[in-house]
Amino acid sequence: MSVDTLEFKAELKQLLHLITHSLYSEREIFLRELVSNASDAIHKIRHGSIDKDELLEGDRDWKIKIVPDADAKTLTISDNGVGMSRDDVVDQLGTIAKSGTKAFLAAIRVTKQADTPGLIGQFGVGFYSAFMVADTVTVRTRPAGGPHLGTTWKSDGQGTFTVEDAPKATRGTDVVLHLKEDAREFLDPYRLQQLVRKFSDFVEHPIVMDETEEKDGVKTTKEVTINNRKAVWLRSKSEVTQEEYAEFYKSISHDTEPPAKTLHFAVEGKTEFKALVFIPAHRPFTMDWEEPKGGLKLYAQRVLIMDRCEEVLPPYLRFVTGVVDAADLPLNVSRELLQRNPLLETIRKNVIRNILSGLEAMKNTEYEKYVAFHKGLGSVLKEGLARDWSNRDKIADLLLFESANTEPGTYITLADYVAKMPEGQSQIHYLTGETAAQLRNSPYLEAFKAKGQDVLLLTDPIDEFAIPQYGEYKGKPLQAADRGDLKEVGGEIPQETTDRFAALLTALKATLPEVADVRLTKRLVDSAACLVADAGGMTANLERLMKKFGEAAADSKRVLELNPDHATVAALRELFESNPSDPRIESGARLLLDQAVIAEGSKIADPAGFAKRINELLAASLR
Ligand code: ADP
Repeated sequence: MSVDTLEFKAELKQLLHLITHSLYSEREIFLRELVSNASDAIHKIRHGSIDKDELLEGDRDWKIKIVPDADAKTLTISDNGVGMSRDDVVDQLGTIAKSGTKAFLAAIRVTKQADTPGLIGQFGVGFYSAFMVADTVTVRTRPAGGPHLGTTWKSDGQGTFTVEDAPKATRGTDVVLHLKEDAREFLDPYRLQQLVRKFSDFVEHPIVMDETEEKDGVKTTKEVTINNRKAVWLRSKSEVTQEEYAEFYKSISHDTEPPAKTLHFAVEGKTEFKALVFIPAHRPFTMDWEEPKGGLKLYAQRVLIMDRCEEVLPPYLRFVTGVVDAADLPLNVSRELLQRNPLLETIRKNVIRNILSGLEAMKNTEYEKYVAFHKGLGSVLKEGLARDWSNRDKIADLLLFESANTEPGTYITLADYVAKMPEGQSQIHYLTGETAAQLRNSPYLEAFKAKGQDVLLLTDPIDEFAIPQYGEYKGKPLQAADRGDLKEVGGEIPQETTDRFAALLTALKATLPEVADVRLTKRLVDSAACLVADAGGMTANLERLMKKFGEAAADSKRVLELNPDHATVAALRELFESNPSDPRIESGARLLLDQAVIAEGSKIADPAGFAKRINELLAASLR
């Protein structure tokens, strides 16, 4: 086949434009990205080909070689990994833009390009970081199967690339960077060694460079391995510095900040494994993607066998990154077989326990840090309340809440709440809504406040599902403040009051067909009316959420509750008694309903009618 010139996919063009036209402070990360691709490529052919010597053409000397060429001004990163076929090259390096590319471009817009290199790694567009330092990149590659399968890819990153068949003697990939004039520092062997130690020291395959020695006028060249290959997680805790942990964390998570918490532990006995896991300081950008980065890498004696092992990390802990290295896992089995290995279940339990107690320790000893973590990731952790039956009490103890009694921006735990429950309170009250500020002014809090009882203010969408599923904390039921009746807090309404209002309530029910019922309440102190869900019904917040997520929740009818001690409600009753057909009764009833709708944070159905009624009232009172 001849030389083909092809266009980069549109998103990739944009990405390349950004990469080639901006100035970066941390562009040296290109080396980490290319070494990491090389290491992945070796992993792909190594794992699962133990007995396929033929396929490997006898070459099992796994390594990544870095070759600076001062005369040609090139830097080459070579590997003897899987390599790529011509079709692979076209797909992988030019025409298929992965989900990461678009998200990367969006994130750059949000962060105003402040941290482009850091983001490149996070978004899985690592190869293209080569264009930060090179004005032309040539990739020579071939899969196992003979020299005739080779392909050469070339581009200046300006919108097109070329591919041509080009025989290659050995399996694997060479990425040749024709360095930009201002990037010649990357020809310096010392600089390169320094970078490898910084970013890729623990890469499991040797990273080598040629070293030339001159002795008695004779030059000899030998290959030296520059990475220590010391798996950080296998070293003892006392040997590893915080900086080493942080570098390792950054390289596996692509986060630019150090982790909030590092957990390094070993389990001995029947199941032996070592684990090094990190809790991020903030919500990772990539967390909610289809193919999120991070997760737990599963190793068997330093050999990577699974990159994101979901079997050992439940979804509600998906913000964790790290490594688990188990001594007794079989190296060469399929994912399906591995998934059924009982060892994984033991590891999983252990890892979860360590992460949860690590979080507990952080909450108790590094509270500020914990609050920052919880702000970004508390909502993810909460998923565990509903999903991890055996750990849900531990998870519940890790949650922080604003409440009616806390200052805005300060938090309490469920344990704090229970400790402060006054005599006679048997339930934990909560109110869900969009913001704590809005909830603080809610009429639903009035009766609780009057009784000295606190109410948790919940604003994560997940609360609507997770809290009711959890059900109770230490024997205390969790009860929505805007649901059901409130005998415990408000007390019973005297029979005499009920009798006095009975006729009015019946009339109002007929006037307001949009509510399920109209009844008296002890829930309110200062307000005249509010809407509540029936005991098993949907709260207003849940209904709003379902609409937002496109679920066609049929508007569930709510109950309009009136405060019999409120002057407006009392006046309405008197008016009704003197003339049941006075038109002001309907108008008054509608205004009570509308103010209750506004108070629960929803939209009123007929804003024009509302304005008209308010104006009639205003006109009358201003006259
Ligand atoms: P990522 O590595 O996150 O998938 P990249 O943009 O760095 O993203 O690489 C894109 C793809 O190109 C890789 O997924 C891989 O299929 C292929 N690739 C890159 N470098 C190599 C290499 N050295 N050997 C084999 N394939 C490679």
